[in-house]
Amino acid sequence: MPVNKEAYTQLNEQLRLSKITLVAVSKTKPVEEILELYNLGHRDFGENYVQELAEKAKQLPNDIRWHYIGHLQTNKVKQIVPFVYLIHGVDSLKLLKEIDKQAEKNNRVIDCLLQVHIAQEETKFGFGEEEVLSFKPGEYSHVKVKGLMGMASFTEDMSKVRTEFKYLHTLFKKLKTEYPQIEILSMGMSSDYKIAIEEKSNMVRIGSLIFGERNYQK
Ligand SMILES: *Cc1c(COP(=O)(O)O)cnc(C)c1O
Repeated sequence: MPVNKEAYTQLNEQLRLSKITLVAVSKTKPVEEILELYNLGHRDFGENYVQELAEKAKQLPNDIRWHYIGHLQTNKVKQIVPFVYLIHGVDSLKLLKEIDKQAEKNNRVIDCLLQVHIAQEETKFGFGEEEVLSFKPGEYSHVKVKGLMGMASFTEDMSKVRTEFKYLHTLFKKLKTEYPQIEILSMGMSSDYKIAIEEKSNMVRIGSLIFGERNYQK
């Protein structure tokens, strides 16, 4: 399925006007399709598998801002640290420490978001409220925590989704009051980004709306 340029252009324009960052989620999609968007001027792309990301990054222009949006295993951190732009899914302090360590080896300071567990499903990774609110960004020299990321429950019940986003925004505001470096709230995907924006997301991660349905689930 080709890239839906019309959907992209419309979405991009709308988000640009509201100063919301659009991360085009290109997982499972070929480099040719990423280049199509790149040639329209797009630079923020999201991937959620380390191997796939590392391979694509090698083949594509180096001014792309690569967002790592998946669950990251500590033993794979070093593969993306040399070039990744923003890691969205930091879900444990152990992982954050490993990113800090690898970033130091690479002479980089890496921007990260803490993933917050907002959905009711057991399977979603992330920090709980208390851990988020007691978090001290200053303890890491080579990691800069810039905000929060969350995924709502996978459900048709949009009032539930809205409640979860509202909750994440509340945590975001609290943390931001204490630490001005907290400025990114990454929430919203193809199915729920409109609600996420109404609940004050400023970064959305959108795949299928732009690239079409994925052939296999990743
Ligand atoms: C795949 C993925 C998305 C994008 O999903 P779409 O429904 O295709 O927009 C967003 N965020 C994360 C964490 C993902 O894994």
